[in-house]
Amino acid sequence: MRWRGERQSDNVEDLRGRSVSRGVKVGGISGLGLVALVVVGMFFGIDPTVLLQIGQDLQSPSVATEQSVRPDANDDMRNFVAVVLAETEDVWKDTFQHAGQAYQEPKLVLFSGAVESACGMAGSAVGPFYCPADHKVYLDLVFFEELHSRFGASGDFAQAYVIAHEVGHHVQTLLGITQKVTELQARSTTSDRNKLSVMVELQADCLAGMWAHQAEKKRRILEAGDIEEGLGAAAAVGDDRIQKRTRGYVVPDGFTHGSSTQRVAWFKRGFEQGNLQACNTFKADRL
Ligand SMILES: [Zn+2]
Repeated sequence: MRWRGERQSDNVEDLRGRSVSRGVKVGGISGLGLVALVVVGMFFGIDPTVLLQIGQDLQSPSVATEQSVRPDANDDMRNFVAVVLAETEDVWKDTFQHAGQAYQEPKLVLFSGAVESACGMAGSAVGPFYCPADHKVYLDLVFFEELHSRFGASGDFAQAYVIAHEVGHHVQTLLGITQKVTELQARSTTSDRNKLSVMVELQADCLAGMWAHQAEKKRRILEAGDIEEGLGAAAAVGDDRIQKRTRGYVVPDGFTHGSSTQRVAWFKRGFEQGNLQACNTFKADRL
């Protein structure tokens, strides 16, 4: 991805190396079990109730966290994230403007270890997430290493896809979709709740694809192999692959984010068509 020298967003809040006020200890046996569960359920997604719960669990016997040394605030990764965020701001600002609406930019919080959001306390193990209550994307950069080492998805565009996906959740919140789905989920069975969650997640994948389409049109950000990197990342974080890795078998009813094939298909669809209508997973005949 071509990003060096491009505009960086002012909306990055760098909390790396800062300890969480209540002192979170992520670890211990119960902590690890919890973390594993959370990884299955929450990759890229956000279910505020789950997050709140984790927050509570993590808050028990509070031990001051040992935080890594604060990284150089101007390091390369931070700059990259700030450029990608800026690219999403430009694309979504235009798209909203065309629809006669104003785009409110989200903040992106970089943290290390654990972080307190308006949706509760979260450890790095939950993966990147978006909190609709404070309009912030939360990201621990170690996730990008994990994306590479555990999920085999590497390259800067794979990382850009992750950020664009989370910003997609912000767009869903601004459009009122998140709120509607949360209401619906409150009176649904577990299986229906999961289906709704899959629709939300695949839509965020599609919105990430749509962002790539628009950003490419505006600024030619893509280099050879970028889209493959994005598709590779989408496939790597499909529920079936994650379930197989963590449980050894696949339980489609337990999907909350969609299979690898679905995630790839919706990212592609957003990228090829480049408009919001293409991303209506709620009206799709087939997901
Ligand atoms: Zn998501």
